[in-house]
Amino acid sequence: MLIVNSELCVGCGLCEDTCAFGAIEVQDGLAVVGDACTLCGSCVDVCEVEALVLEDVEKSVQVDLDSWSGIWVYCEFRAGHLAPVSLELLGAGRKLADARGVKLSAVLIGADTKETAEQLIGYGADVVYRVDSPALQYFTDEAYGAVLTDLIQIHKPEVVLAGATAIGRSFIPGVANSLGAGLTADCTELAIREDDGALLQTRPAFGGNIMATIVCPSSRPQMSTVRPKVMKPLEFDAARTGVIEDVEPAPEQLATKVRVLESVLSDQDDVNIQEADILVGGGRGLESEKGFELIRNLAESMDAAVSASRAVVDSGWIGYPHQVGQTGKTVAPKLYVACGISGAIQHVAGMQSSETIVAINRDKEAPIFDVADYGIVGDLFEIIPLLITKIEGNR
Ligand SMILES: Cc1cc2nc3c(=O)[nH]c(=O)nc-3n(C[C@H](O)[C@H](O)[C@H](O)COP(=O)(O)OP(=O)(O)OC[C@H]3O[C@@H](n4cnc5c(N)ncnc54)[C@H](O)[C@@H]3O)c2cc1C
Repeated sequence: MLIVNSELCVGCGLCEDTCAFGAIEVQDGLAVVGDACTLCGSCVDVCEVEALVLEDVEKSVQVDLDSWSGIWVYCEFRAGHLAPVSLELLGAGRKLADARGVKLSAVLIGADTKETAEQLIGYGADVVYRVDSPALQYFTDEAYGAVLTDLIQIHKPEVVLAGATAIGRSFIPGVANSLGAGLTADCTELAIREDDGALLQTRPAFGGNIMATIVCPSSRPQMSTVRPKVMKPLEFDAARTGVIEDVEPAPEQLATKVRVLESVLSDQDDVNIQEADILVGGGRGLESEKGFELIRNLAESMDAAVSASRAVVDSGWIGYPHQVGQTGKTVAPKLYVACGISGAIQHVAGMQSSETIVAINRDKEAPIFDVADYGIVGDLFEIIPLLITKIEGNR
């Protein structure tokens, strides 16, 4: 809240001139704050008589920031496997921990996690908090949330990172809420601010049109989720050493209203476009479900997986697990072949980290060519069959 001290205010108007939102006005020699105030603090900075105070900011800064230390990564373990994003986050977390001069810890929750815990050290963790129990074999929001919240309250890490996977998105916001912490979802970049060691959390905003960097200067822990395939894992180093701390979950943490009767791997899990080395992506330029078959044929000829733009998924030509982009998956294959995809910013946000991008489009001005390494301008119904013939002829 912005407070005007009427005894100190001299009605000079500096605050009014400075406010970019027209939210402060001098009336009868006194600054008056309106509803448009965003609490940006620019008026406080220019006030020469210190008549303006941002009350909440001053209060929250009183939180003892120094008692929170260390970078944590929640390492997702499901159906007996570690989610690859966990290793990517350990790679990112290692850099943050080194920049802060603190330890990098992994939190591993599940059942039969011993071998995985050892692996996490080779991928960069200094400490692994392993919470292993048959009762944790299946994910539930309540139990996983209670266990992670409790660990954070005990050890007080300054940063907690998790994958923006179905599981991460499901329970991490609840953990942040229980701790009274903020949470920045879907970060694409993380860094440490030199001045005060705060975490700089960058993510797309306003439909992907701008990148916003979010900072939590006055509360801890700083919590972020990161999409798979955005960060890079470290090379496994068997010589790395670290400590595995086994944590016994309290019975009340395991109590949950949810009873998992059966866990079935969905067919969709067979289609992991995030792990494919080569992706052939099709867009609305394929015209119909039948036209989209051409993409499947090209993918087959190249031993590639099939991906699609949202326009294609919305049209029902292929399922959502194949969608690339801001509201789909982020991919970074060695080769991405975009066919009949215009290159809308929301699509590009999900594939621009691909090593090599080839685009086929009949519109030479299509924005996809701005990110493509190789472009073919022409009708895909002519080009793709030629490509298939050529590739198969070379086998
Ligand atoms: C909040 C939000 C989130 C979104 N999230 C996503 C997302 O995750 N993923 C995503 O993909 N989109 C997303 N979108 C939608 C996005 O803005 C675009 O509408 C979408 O990507 C367009 O798909 P497209 O490129 O297949 O279709 P179009 O934009 O219609 O492009 C079709 C292209 O095909 C070319 N073409 C047509 N015929 C031929 C031919 N015979 N030969 C060669 N080229 C041809 C055309 O020149 C054109 O460039 C999102 C939008 C919003 C607002």
